[in-house]
Amino acid sequence: MAGTFKSVFDASFITAEFLNAQINAHFIPLIWKTLIASGRIFHLCLRQLTLCFGPSSSLPPPPSTLLFTPPTRSPPSSSSNYRIVHNQQNGAFVEAVIMRYDTRLGKYNGKARPGGPRSTLCISSQVGCKMGCKFCATGSMGFKNNLSTGEILEQLVHASHLSTIRNVVFMGMGEPLNNYSALVEAIRVMTASPFQLSPRKITVSTVGIIHAIKKLQHDIPNLNLAVSLHAPVQDIRCQIMPAARAFPLDRLMDALAEYQKKCQQKIFIEYIMLDGVNDEEQHAHKLGKLLETFQVVVNLIPFNPIGDLSHFRTSQEDKVTRFQKILREVYNIRTTVRKQMGQDISGACGQLVVDLPNKRFNSGDLVTDIEDLNM
Ligand code: SF4
Repeated sequence: MAGTFKSVFDASFITAEFLNAQINAHFIPLIWKTLIASGRIFHLCLRQLTLCFGPSSSLPPPPSTLLFTPPTRSPPSSSSNYRIVHNQQNGAFVEAVIMRYDTRLGKYNGKARPGGPRSTLCISSQVGCKMGCKFCATGSMGFKNNLSTGEILEQLVHASHLSTIRNVVFMGMGEPLNNYSALVEAIRVMTASPFQLSPRKITVSTVGIIHAIKKLQHDIPNLNLAVSLHAPVQDIRCQIMPAARAFPLDRLMDALAEYQKKCQQKIFIEYIMLDGVNDEEQHAHKLGKLLETFQVVVNLIPFNPIGDLSHFRTSQEDKVTRFQKILREVYNIRTTVRKQMGQDISGACGQLVVDLPNKRFNSGDLVTDIEDLNM
């Protein structure tokens, strides 16, 4: 019955139930490992787990029912990118995208990149988003609900059946730092047995929730942080990202400086190029000055009109090139340009996984994996 299930991957819930039933929580990763290996979708009563793992005492077994939710659909296997859609218990849909790369096709310093085929998973943390960025289809949906830890993790579990996932990016639907406790718990599980992902292979993308950025560095050191900056000055940020009013740019930059001082890692800066809004040479210089003391990689993302959100236009290619050149040559900032939204893992949050007809997930095009941007 709807509303009565918990995901079997909701870590704190299942741990509490195990402890209540005097089952050793040590068995939880073993159960997850079995589930991941079997790939079976099922309903599970904790009573069954008590019989398998618990003391055969007269303690009442835990009553809750767990669910390993099936994805509702996935794309044809001929595509290089997979889209996985999960139907939530409340009827909402949430999407994850597997981006497959072959690094050997790219060049770095004129040579073939090392490595080979690999996959990056773009994960959602919420259904909808309350940040309301004007250029974002997810933002136009409004906020529906937070995903639980288990619902976040299930995206990784299902994706793992389609491909070996090497990197995870929280760039799907939602602002991950607005679902902080579920995010942190999910990452803690991802980096422990049986998932064993390195924190350095996980990227969290945020519009810049200042207090949460500070906390994140403390709670999970060594994560990659991507910040959707999108403008070099506060008034343009507020115009295109209403939530920026609560997070003044000067305070955000102070928080990023503190973050970088502690973690000593590059920060990814996402910058969507909107014609006549934030793509002029003066904006490039302002952005360069803002970032010149940081270790960053800037990703310029030409806007791709989505659905009815056509009040913004795509920047001209020569303007994007000029913008990139200024950042590179005047400010010595590593700057990449994304050619096609929707197929590039380095897109900003919410941009990759909204189910609209004109979003493109073509196969066969060369894109750069987020992992390679750290080279
Ligand atoms: S861009 Fe990100 S933060 Fe902004 S509305 Fe979209 S999903 Fe939310």
